[in-house]
Amino acid sequence: MIGLFVALLVATGTPGVPPALAAQEAPVAITFLDVGQGDAIVIRAPDGRFAMIDAGRGSPLRQLTRLGVGELALLIATHAHVDHIGGLDDVLTARPVDTYLDNGTPHTTRTYLELMAHVERLDVRYLQAVPRSLLLGGVSLEILPLPSTTEQQNDRSVGVMLRYGDFSALLTGDSEREELDFWLDGGLIEEVTLLKAAHHGASNGFTYPFLDAAEPELVVISVGEGNSYDHPRPEALAAYTSYAHRVLRTDRDGTVTVFGYSDGRYDVVLGEDPYDELNRSDSGAGSDRYVDVGTSASDGENAAGLGALLALAVHADARGDDADNLNDEYVVIENLSRTRIGIGLWRLCDLSSRCFRFPPGSSIAPGRRVVVYTGYGSTDGVSFFMNNGRPVWNNNGDEATLLDTGGHVILRHVYEEE
Ligand SMILES: [Zn+2]
Repeated sequence: MIGLFVALLVATGTPGVPPALAAQEAPVAITFLDVGQGDAIVIRAPDGRFAMIDAGRGSPLRQLTRLGVGELALLIATHAHVDHIGGLDDVLTARPVDTYLDNGTPHTTRTYLELMAHVERLDVRYLQAVPRSLLLGGVSLEILPLPSTTEQQNDRSVGVMLRYGDFSALLTGDSEREELDFWLDGGLIEEVTLLKAAHHGASNGFTYPFLDAAEPELVVISVGEGNSYDHPRPEALAAYTSYAHRVLRTDRDGTVTVFGYSDGRYDVVLGEDPYDELNRSDSGAGSDRYVDVGTSASDGENAAGLGALLALAVHADARGDDADNLNDEYVVIENLSRTRIGIGLWRLCDLSSRCFRFPPGSSIAPGRRVVVYTGYGSTDGVSFFMNNGRPVWNNNGDEATLLDTGGHVILRHVYEEE
């Protein structure tokens, strides 16, 4: 998309930026604040400048202070609903803001009218969401066009395509199908590293064609615990899980930060002090931790829950000599649930820790099974091959363990000679 390039000029040297992150390899940090039911996203450019998209229903100032957010080069209101703009007034009061951008679609609520009056009173540059690229350090924020066919606030959510080298993120407010289709038809949806689930994981916040195009590696759902909308919906979760290696939720995971590196890699850090956490990790920028995602099971409890949805059986005794018939030795894993279950990067191990790792993006369709053969072959997503030259599963007893990417045991199947 060719857009008007606007350089955001804001003094550098923002307080609170750890020196280690100011180095050459500094990532862009996208933090999804845990603000209950709503959206509030803080973006920190590699040069330490900040932008923010939405501010939740209440005040996010405590979190901004904890993150060390001083001046905001850019403040975006995706649309005028209170779970997105409720906290903006406080942000505008307490932090200098250079540029304010919204969808230019008026709303009738007092929250909206007071907010706009506040924006007018301040010395803030106001921009409307038309296709344009805003530059924040080395990060490009492409503002997507709004559909002109509707005045609905959700379907006129400001969409932002963030790019930092090979890392990209699509941030879409509460877009529903009409706006998602509009972008898709316009050829604006490309593969992204990170997708913020539109509309808090609502069933109208995704379509399969949209996800086919976006093919996110990572999905973050900004959603409040026990919200009255029943967000996120199971069908949305199933869809996200079938595409993304990892689906994170602010209601379960709290504040979620994704550090994106220009070579396309990323790290996920949970908690309210993500910048400190990254510094503490000895691996430094662009560690291999990004490989180690592949499931929505981020803790042992979730992992155990997933295990109940799967069944595993081992066919250890191949016809004839096992060594001559390696693909008659296999493991079957069945999905007993009505939801697609992502198993990308999970491991299947025997008692002596010989393991097979499922390729990224692997999943088992609802009610279906996948088979892992011992011998050689290439996968079609249903049949997998360990590509071993020798038998793996002992005929006289062994143990098959399925582990998620965090190393949690999902299932353990012990068998003995009969
Ligand atoms: Zn919302």
